[in-house]
Amino acid sequence: MSVLRGRQFFMHPGPTNIPDRVLRAMDRPASDFMGKDFLEMRFRCADRVRAILKSKEAVVVFYASSGHGAWEAAVANTLSPGDKVLVCQSGYFSENWAIMAKAFGAEVETLTTPDRKAVDPKAVEARLAKDDAREIKAVLVVHNETSTGTKHPVAEIRAAIDRAGHSALFMVDTISSLVSFDFRMDEWKVDVVVGGSQKGLMLPPGMSFTGVSEKAWNASQSARNPRRYWDWRNLVENKRQARFCGTAPIHFFFGLEASLAMIEEEGLENIFIRHRRLADATRACVNAWSAGGGPEVYPVDAAAASDSLTAVLMPKGHNAEDVRRIAEGRFNVALGRGLGALDGRVFRIGHMGDLNEPTMLGALSAVEMALKVAKVPHGKGGLDAAMAVLAA
Ligand SMILES: *Cc1c(COP(=O)(O)O)cnc(C)c1O
Repeated sequence: MSVLRGRQFFMHPGPTNIPDRVLRAMDRPASDFMGKDFLEMRFRCADRVRAILKSKEAVVVFYASSGHGAWEAAVANTLSPGDKVLVCQSGYFSENWAIMAKAFGAEVETLTTPDRKAVDPKAVEARLAKDDAREIKAVLVVHNETSTGTKHPVAEIRAAIDRAGHSALFMVDTISSLVSFDFRMDEWKVDVVVGGSQKGLMLPPGMSFTGVSEKAWNASQSARNPRRYWDWRNLVENKRQARFCGTAPIHFFFGLEASLAMIEEEGLENIFIRHRRLADATRACVNAWSAGGGPEVYPVDAAAASDSLTAVLMPKGHNAEDVRRIAEGRFNVALGRGLGALDGRVFRIGHMGDLNEPTMLGALSAVEMALKVAKVPHGKGGLDAAMAVLAA
């Protein structure tokens, strides 16, 4: 095996690059996780995360867990066995959230979405309008489907729920959209926001959180699902998280303070602009490759393409794993694999978190070289197209 020198360009769409400043902030001894200093620091972190959610009142509850834990917290706290739940199909992550809801006894109905398309708000409205008995207790949507690189229209789905006059809880997974593109908890009346540490927040994997609206909090008081680790009633006092079920993930909060400082210094809206620019450059590059039957951006509508990652669909007869293997093994650029049904059919280029233009261009050139080595047909001029976007 050849030795690869230099720093790996880590282009997974989660976990993402952890800035040195975050790593340094976490490099310290353990401390009293029940002490006053730590409690106050946690309160400050919750206030700052609430601001990122664009919410004034949400209760922010952190968990020592992967994002799956926050999914589980959302359904365990708000639903009762037998409750009907409408899951907007978007791909691997919506399917797995649905599995979680089913495991808690929910009766899951999946609203189908055609391949390579965003969820249709009109379909949500039509389904809810037919629910005369108001059996549907929650609508579950993944804001950014990380398996397909597709963003789904949360604001428009909110408007659809309102047009149907439906009272279902609105739960949104923002694990790979938060801090990458716009999300507005209060304005879009989202009842439970699910977030994770290892994507736009630039932390290691292992901490997740939920933003909880007053409506969701009230629902949790009478919900009959079994829960212990996730139970908001045990974790929250006076609308603030008072404790964890067990030892708090102390070091994540030191890291979070650093990542929040970085986010506040750059400014959320500037971060969105940076993500859009890197995403536009990546898409321009892939669109050039797509000429003459080459790889394509997965979502067909440009408006649905995610600003946090690009899923690249391989031409028939070519395996995405070959491209990934060559990019990583020969050029030290790590790409995301295809998940579930898209295994081998797509590779994913993450462009969220702590990234800049030269890293993006370096990664794209490695992908183009990997396409060449793997003998995948592709159009010319991808890098030029990307540079034109970045230099504009
Ligand atoms: C990464 C991701 C998850 C799962 O997070 P884990 O920390 O791996 O459990 C869920 N939803 C979306 C949209 C994601 O991108």
